[in-house]
Amino acid sequence: MTIVVKVGGAAGNSLEEVLDDLAGRRDYVLVHGGSERVDRLGEALGRPAQYYTAPSGVVSRRSDPAHLEVVVLALAGAVQTEIVARLFARGVRAIGLSGVDAGLLLARRKEGAREVVDGRVLRVADDRSGRVERVDAALLESLLGLGLVPVVGPPAVTATGEVVNVDADRVAAEIAVALGAETLLLLTNVAGVLRDRDDAASRVATVGRDAIDTVLPLAEGRMRKKVLAAQTALAGGVGRVVIASSSGSSPVARALAGDGTVFA
Ligand code: ADP
Repeated sequence: MTIVVKVGGAAGNSLEEVLDDLAGRRDYVLVHGGSERVDRLGEALGRPAQYYTAPSGVVSRRSDPAHLEVVVLALAGAVQTEIVARLFARGVRAIGLSGVDAGLLLARRKEGAREVVDGRVLRVADDRSGRVERVDAALLESLLGLGLVPVVGPPAVTATGEVVNVDADRVAAEIAVALGAETLLLLTNVAGVLRDRDDAASRVATVGRDAIDTVLPLAEGRMRKKVLAAQTALAGGVGRVVIASSSGSSPVARALAGDGTVFA
């Protein structure tokens, strides 16, 4: 049974240990973000990242055309290529795909993105972000059938060929749903959903599928997207979702064993 593993790109994520742990497996799709890399490249190009907060409290990267270009260069370019190379070094034939490749992630452009500025709700200007509406699961299954590991990340493509930024946690959830995956792992730089962000021991161990709304108030900013992604995955038939740490030895095996916040 295929699993979907998403590894974060923010500071504190430990890609090497995740790849070590995945090296012996061929039954997964690896989804990557890369926010730190996007931020660094943006700085170097004189286009520092900007974020906005939606009325729901979700924090999103600004994706006007100039920032979207940085996202594409950093994710579909650098991060994905490096992950594929690192897997190759571990004896894994991986293939990197952005959501644009073969129309893997078909998205609809977000029409009405809104942001809160000084307590007022405003339209987000020139936004090139989207929501994934269809995943070409058959393509992923064909690659897996050939013994190739798909390494997938933003951006996605619209039906009219516009390139749009999409959230990698949501991409992972949509892929897990499309593949009918039993398990989705969202590996990140914290031990799971924490009641107190400064205390790893305050991790919420389990969340019932009907109780997700009770942990949403704990999850601020970008953690909120992971919790919403978990909700999307479970609603779409995925058996369980684990938000867990990407660092330490065997992060994949530990997450599969439930060492994180388990949504089921
Ligand atoms: P990644 O790049 O791994 O996807 P993000 O930076 O997007 O990671 O999201 C993880 C971050 O969410 C944590 O580092 C933390 O700062 C933040 N966060 C907000 N609320 C919580 C919470 N209740 N528990 C854990 N982390 C939280």
